[in-house]
Amino acid sequence: MSKVYFTTARGTRWDYRFSVLGRFERMLSECGLMNFEKGEYVAVKTHFGSEGAHRIVRPSFLRKVTDAVKKAGGKPFVTDTVRIMGVDYLEVASQNGINHLSVGAPVIIADGPFGKDSLLVPAPGEVVGEIAVASAIHDCPAMVVCSHIKGHIQAGYAGAIKNLAMGGVSAAHREGGWKKGRGHMHCHGEVPLSWDAEVCTYCLQCENVCPKGAIKFIDEKLVQDKTLCWFCGRCARVCPSGGLTLPVDNDTFQKSLAESAGAVLSTFTPGKVIYINFMFEIQPECDCMPSCDTPMLQDVGILVSDDMVAIEQATVDMLRKGSPLPGSVAEERECKPGDDVLSMVNPRNYMLCIEHARRLGLGSREYEIVEVS
Ligand code: SF4
Ligand code: SF4
Repeated sequence: MSKVYFTTARGTRWDYRFSVLGRFERMLSECGLMNFEKGEYVAVKTHFGSEGAHRIVRPSFLRKVTDAVKKAGGKPFVTDTVRIMGVDYLEVASQNGINHLSVGAPVIIADGPFGKDSLLVPAPGEVVGEIAVASAIHDCPAMVVCSHIKGHIQAGYAGAIKNLAMGGVSAAHREGGWKKGRGHMHCHGEVPLSWDAEVCTYCLQCENVCPKGAIKFIDEKLVQDKTLCWFCGRCARVCPSGGLTLPVDNDTFQKSLAESAGAVLSTFTPGKVIYINFMFEIQPECDCMPSCDTPMLQDVGILVSDDMVAIEQATVDMLRKGSPLPGSVAEERECKPGDDVLSMVNPRNYMLCIEHARRLGLGSREYEIVEVS
């Protein structure tokens, strides 16, 4: 049975040591998982957010992680893969508070400024085949995966597995293009974007959300530039009218996430990856979208483990016992305490991903909570 360390989001006393940050600091030093060789590079993988999505893992928590890595002898850098072109993405990171000064370590793009610096790695399982792992993650001997827990329009739930899979893989591979990168998880082969002028309301959300400027409306017709497109599917997922569709199989997508996470993990010696799930500001959608909604569940706290599957199971178990928040999409969907809010907001079989990861031998769904109070 795997150990999962937990500390609550509540402030328990008017004393720094009992603040969330104080308990988090203690949790990192007491969990016995921060074991690094002297001078060993440690990738602190997080999501930098987007220009309009500010609910990410806060820099003050990332600072505690880099401090703990340094105390244990490691050399941390904070990283993410390209969501928009890398130099612009570093600007976004800095705007969201993530820079060398705030997090106490260099902040770099793991797959280079153009999102193509990656190496093909075989993935376990039957769906993905091989996938392009970002070079700075591929070549790094150790990693701390810091995940902001939230919902997701295609995955239903986004935590450590998704952070490792979508976030550890390049947008595209230098030779293999998007078909070996993140788009491969979304689409599994070239499938056409289908636009229906009869249904389109010309709201332009699809055009605005595209990270590559690959779709435009010309003479009131949608035009896709396939040479630019990453096949991320974002445009179709935000379309409110069904005017734009990209046929994807959601269950295959869940398996792809687990298998791609397995590919990323395979580049590390066992025991060199630690997971931290931050259950704060649990919004309905991914941090990469151009805006964020109000949180749908009350803050729960922080989990730490060296077992990717156990921490994901513990997280979804805690979220299912969480409190849906008024004024959020959870209220609109009439969620009650004890409901599976994630599934009611984005109806997806996210447990398939966690179970597939277990089946691939990436961890255990059995866990024991160790509370740090
Ligand atoms: S799938 Fe849509 S949003 Fe994604 S790059 Fe292609 S056109 Fe842009
Ligand atoms: S998001 Fe959908 S409805 Fe809006 S412009 Fe694009 S295709 Fe049309």
